[in-house]
Amino acid sequence: MELLKRKILEEGRALNDHVLLVDSFLNHQVDPELMRAVGEEFAARFADAGVTRVVTIESSGIAPAVMTALAMKLPMVILKKSPSAILQDGILQTEVFSFTKNAAYQLTLKRKFILPGDRVLLIDDFLANGEAAFGGIRLMEQAGAQVAGIGAVIAKAFQPGLKKLRDAGYRVEALAPVKRMAENTIEFE
Ligand code: 5GP
Repeated sequence: MELLKRKILEEGRALNDHVLLVDSFLNHQVDPELMRAVGEEFAARFADAGVTRVVTIESSGIAPAVMTALAMKLPMVILKKSPSAILQDGILQTEVFSFTKNAAYQLTLKRKFILPGDRVLLIDDFLANGEAAFGGIRLMEQAGAQVAGIGAVIAKAFQPGLKKLRDAGYRVEALAPVKRMAENTIEFE
């Protein structure tokens, strides 16, 4: 997606060879026009996938996921990272190791928001090692749903997540696949 790649080159910053900072339009400040275009792109790429629900992980996946759900006219569900006192009954959980926080958290879903037989499109801001995506997949399986596809706004293709997911048979669309990074250098596939 050219618009997104241009934005990454203009405003993104590679901190080192594996961490990309895009907090001026995706992770902290959000560019709503760009997010709308991202949502329309995911909707077009997964138009034939029979998706019934869009699912993301809080918090940076929410902006692209809600725009995707809007474009596809589907409901959207946020998987929570922190156990909440008000979540209580009927919850499903799985442990996920966070790439950016270097710590594990319990990815949590209230069961009633995913129905058995749902075909889910998982959307996230970044795909790196695939820990978050595989955590989302485990929760969808526990809920009796199928993962129809996985959409990453940015995928660092030199890290193992993208290949692992595709090798496991999942359809993955990455709008900006990064081939290589070094301090202040970003190259796309
Ligand atoms: P994974 O679970 O695939 O290893 O990592 C995915 C999660 O880690 C994403 O949801 C994202 O929040 C975070 N992440 C991974 N790599 C980067 C990165 O280079 N920059 C930023 N800002 N977040 C990242």
